[in-house]
Amino acid sequence: LEFYDISPKINSNTAVFPGDQKFERTMTMAFQNNDHLETSIIKTTLHIGAHTDAPSHYTKNGDTIEKRDPRLYLGRVQLIDVSSLFSNDLSSNSSMNKSTNQISSTLSMGTKTLKKKLNRLIEPNDFSQTPIEARRVIFRTDSFSDPEKWHNDFVAFSPDTIQYLAHLGVRLIGIDTPSIDPATSKDLPSHKKVYENNMAILEGIVLSEVPEGLYTLVAIPLAIEGADASPVRALLFKPDVDLSRM
Ligand SMILES: [Zn+2]
Repeated sequence: LEFYDISPKINSNTAVFPGDQKFERTMTMAFQNNDHLETSIIKTTLHIGAHTDAPSHYTKNGDTIEKRDPRLYLGRVQLIDVSSLFSNDLSSNSSMNKSTNQISSTLSMGTKTLKKKLNRLIEPNDFSQTPIEARRVIFRTDSFSDPEKWHNDFVAFSPDTIQYLAHLGVRLIGIDTPSIDPATSKDLPSHKKVYENNMAILEGIVLSEVPEGLYTLVAIPLAIEGADASPVRALLFKPDVDLSRM
């Protein structure tokens, strides 16, 4: 296997933020109707499946997606797996007190006892022992495992993490959940930090089969004029794959 496909399939069941437009596709010509070819139209939120946010999504007068440098979404990327830090048993999560930031609890998981964080934010301390070796960094949380089943309790970033990575020269940040901020956040502190540092965002990727390490990312948005986001087909090539020889 030369690459991992980290994009979920897109269809009318793909989960979108509550209230946002689900994906719909309608045939306009079809062989079944004795047409000489098939054509179809789609209606969808642009924040569907694996997608990139434009600054105009989270900042008034921010750049729209066609103005972004496509090279942000192409090149060396580091995958960091923080999934073991978070309890992904949602029933036990819902009983946890969300105001207890930074405190770890000890949960018994079968015969193993694992340290689990009580909050659902990735903090710099959670991975500061991992050297950052790429200008693009994506995080595996395993906290939104079914792209067709919405829930609010996915893992997101603390704004300190965005700032920490920006200081290290990181230009793109990605996550395997629908958003870099918690679902219920209205002030979107991590999106704001991304804007201040002119970084790019990749959301909704699927990393459940992908081990930690370095890869080459391909996830270029469409140049949809004036748009707040674009779906992407996101792939991770193994670092020893020479794209110039394919
Ligand atoms: Zn988005």
